[in-house]
Amino acid sequence: MFTVGLTGGIGSGKTTVCRVFSVLGIPVFNSDEQAKLLLQDDPEVKAAVLQLFGSSVYPAGVLDKKALAQLVFNDPKALAGLNAIVHPAVRRAFKEWAESQQAPYVINEAAILVETGAYPNFDRLVTVEAPEDVRLARVVTRDGSPEEQVRQRMSNQATEAQRREVAYAVIENDGHSMVLLQVLALHEKFNQEAQEA
Ligand code: ATP
Repeated sequence: MFTVGLTGGIGSGKTTVCRVFSVLGIPVFNSDEQAKLLLQDDPEVKAAVLQLFGSSVYPAGVLDKKALAQLVFNDPKALAGLNAIVHPAVRRAFKEWAESQQAPYVINEAAILVETGAYPNFDRLVTVEAPEDVRLARVVTRDGSPEEQVRQRMSNQATEAQRREVAYAVIENDGHSMVLLQVLALHEKFNQEAQEA
């Protein structure tokens, strides 16, 4: 299966852009959602997380997201431990999912494909861009999060320049550029490249 990784900073519009691909019939796998599902439901992932962090993260067998977030917040070693459990499980789930799709190509939407070094696993990498002030305003409006918190999350992500450097294509989602036209052009390319692959 021909695979496209789609990334971008917080609030860049990854999910919005993926909806357009989806309307064109392209299956989209959301890595962040999948990670949450696996943490909640996958027996192997749950067992490994329990072993690492103890039962306080699954009171009554149900994931306490806040407790887990607090345990890894500002603790790079704990976060690395969690990622070492979740990331391979998400990669396996994507691989299995991708092979079962009937489509010319599939998309994996993920916020941190560049940070994790996972991007070379895809045939193509697309990054969605928007100016920082626009992204900030979008996330504050969408989530009601304090500006400072969003800035903090941004500072933990790769920069637009780092993503752009390794991307095959950039989608400008600054609120002015026509996203639909950019997606249609890429869709046509990916259809052709997938056929040739
Ligand atoms: P996150 O990294 O937080 O998951 P994301 O990159 O997936 O975010 P979206 O959720 O797609 O970003 O977009 C963030 C917010 O901005 C959403 O509320 C979305 O509706 C809005 N938005 C995205 N693109 C545009 C646009 N071109 N014009 C106006 N609003 C937009």
